[in-house]
Amino acid sequence: MTVVQTVGVVGAGTMGVGIAYVFAAAGSEVAIVEPNLERARAARTVLADQAAGARARGKLDPAMHEALEGRLRFVAAISDLPDSLDLAIEAVPERAGLKRVVLAEVEHRRPALLATNTSGIAIGELAGALCHPEVFLGLHFFNPVWSMPLVEIVRGRHTNDATLAAAQEVVTQIGKSRIVVDDAPGFATSRLGVVIALEAMRMLQAGIASAEDIDRAMELGYRHPMGPLKLTDLVGLDVRLDIATNLARAYGPRFDPPQILLEKVAAGELGRKTGRGFYTW
Ligand code: NAD
Repeated sequence: MTVVQTVGVVGAGTMGVGIAYVFAAAGSEVAIVEPNLERARAARTVLADQAAGARARGKLDPAMHEALEGRLRFVAAISDLPDSLDLAIEAVPERAGLKRVVLAEVEHRRPALLATNTSGIAIGELAGALCHPEVFLGLHFFNPVWSMPLVEIVRGRHTNDATLAAAQEVVTQIGKSRIVVDDAPGFATSRLGVVIALEAMRMLQAGIASAEDIDRAMELGYRHPMGPLKLTDLVGLDVRLDIATNLARAYGPRFDPPQILLEKVAAGELGRKTGRGFYTW
């Protein structure tokens, strides 16, 4: 069996671009929905740079490079997605209300599999907007998608066995490893990753140590490849704030966003994407 032939990705931000790339690299025809023209332009550049870099490193031969670029196309609206896609993945900002609206609209295109890349909103909460929650589940990719090996598959209460089996197959076919978790806010990865990051921010806020030393503590003391503050800069402080806010609603004050995070987001210091977060990039 070949990899899913047709894929739709909704939202061409940090994650949507990476997800589109890995499917195109695996041979799928990918349509990317991005209504923001500036974002779409930036996404095209990121995709072109990533493909050129892979070619320069000998990971893509010239024919594959050309084929990959031909498999990616942008559309401005969900209604422009092809009908009956093999797989549609939502990667819009981490807001339950927005995701519910987007998913309901994508469902009208009748994809065989419908997935969300949410970092932590319960699948059950998002499935409420759908007529066919049995084909819906979480496919949680990691940043940067082209190099991170994991996809966390989240099975909702209504997700059926065929959908879960197909999703497992898809993850294998794009060359990723998977874990399967039952539906709970934050799943396994965000729940653990975000709690460490929030504690690191509270330590920084209290002046316990510098950002560099807090990160080094986890990198050298616990063998994390990247410290929690640097990782937050990479993920986006706004993205982490949204996740923490959702998790605080589900699990209480241990996920309350620290003041330093609220202040940095309000000041537009969102991490690497804006040139400044806990570090200057
Ligand atoms: P982002 O802000 O970089 O990108 C979101 C994109 O969605 C933007 O380009 C925006 O223009 C677009 N968008 C907004 N509304 C839309 C709509 N109605 N239709 C189509 N596109 C729309 O966000 P991101 O970091 O890529 O995160 C996307 C999702 O992935 C979130 O749920 C986030 O929690 C999750 N996630 C993020 C990371 C990370 O490291 N950033 C990792 C794993 C999962």
